[in-house]
Amino acid sequence: MELKGKQTIYCSVDSCKYNEKREICSLENIEVAPCNHVHSGKAEEESLCSSYQRDY
Ligand code: SF4
Repeated sequence: MELKGKQTIYCSVDSCKYNEKREICSLENIEVAPCNHVHSGKAEEESLCSSYQRDY
């Protein structure tokens, strides 16, 4: 897939190993996926970051 421009990824998921200071994602890009079997239309239920990795 061709990348279009650049974006800053703001993220506050502190438990992810790519998160810095509960502010920003250190990856150059991420993949966002739909949550399975959810069609509520509520943002907190419909999508999630598929690039998440647990920070051990
Ligand atoms: S990979 Fe996803 S969850 Fe992790 S810091 Fe980046 S945007 Fe946040």
